[in-house]
Amino acid sequence: MQVYIDGKYYEKENAKVSVFDHGFLYGDGIFEGIRVYSGKVFKLKEHLDRLYKSAKALMLEIPLTPDELKKDVEDAVKRNQKTNGYIRLVVSRGEGDLGVNPFLCKKASVIIIVGDIQLYPEKFYTEGIPVITSSLRRISPDCFDVRIKSLNYLNNALAKIEAAQAECMEAVMLTREGYVAECTGDNIFIVSNGVLYTPCLTDSALEGITRSFVMEIAERAGMTIRETHLTQYDLYTADECFLTGTGAELIPVNKIDGRVIGSGRPGEWTKKLANLFHEAVHT
Ligand code: PMP
Repeated sequence: MQVYIDGKYYEKENAKVSVFDHGFLYGDGIFEGIRVYSGKVFKLKEHLDRLYKSAKALMLEIPLTPDELKKDVEDAVKRNQKTNGYIRLVVSRGEGDLGVNPFLCKKASVIIIVGDIQLYPEKFYTEGIPVITSSLRRISPDCFDVRIKSLNYLNNALAKIEAAQAECMEAVMLTREGYVAECTGDNIFIVSNGVLYTPCLTDSALEGITRSFVMEIAERAGMTIRETHLTQYDLYTADECFLTGTGAELIPVNKIDGRVIGSGRPGEWTKKLANLFHEAVHT
């Protein structure tokens, strides 16, 4: 594996960053997880757009233009000879001193890792996964807007611990007002009476690239789509539920807080959208 750090490539064991890097010291940085399907980087433009928006919100200057970064991501994929894989693109604030002041960091650091990802064992894609609702609220925009895809995932990690302790693989997180936001690493959808619902982005949900893509696919398949407030009641009484994310792709949910969703098996729309998704990403 050849890891890109600031324009140079290193073998995995030599790919290292400074302990004074503020990404390490303070979680001060941003990232993207991106898929490679059939030799093509999936939705690279959308990922780069989101990365540069996160950077703008954090006043973090990426030392490359979007075109230069696009080229470097594609070169890293070629160099690692990946036809199907997963890219982790990280921009950290860079080396600074031990204080939190980001403006004392000399230069942001860009890292590109090209590897593989398998978030869930295969059988869960055909059977669905059980999830719980976390007791922890998703961070509110008055603290930090989660549309910034930052390196600080502790809110998510704590909810993931709760899920693991309940022997579940994911946790649904609510907003402070009690509306459904998203899961720790995925967006959430339900189908009720043939209509596709997902939380609106102002309910502390990341503007997922997979979320947008699945909405496009659903629209083409003739579904009505509503981005709206959702509550736990909406989840419990839904006909179908699934999660979307670059790593997870589209995974059915069969149980939420012990309530069986629909028949307890992946629903017809979920299966259809998953099939259309897999067809589309490889063309
Ligand atoms: N929400 C969170 C908190 C995430 O970390 C992710 C990405 N893993 C998503 C949603 C899904 O976003 P995307 O489809 O762009 O991967």
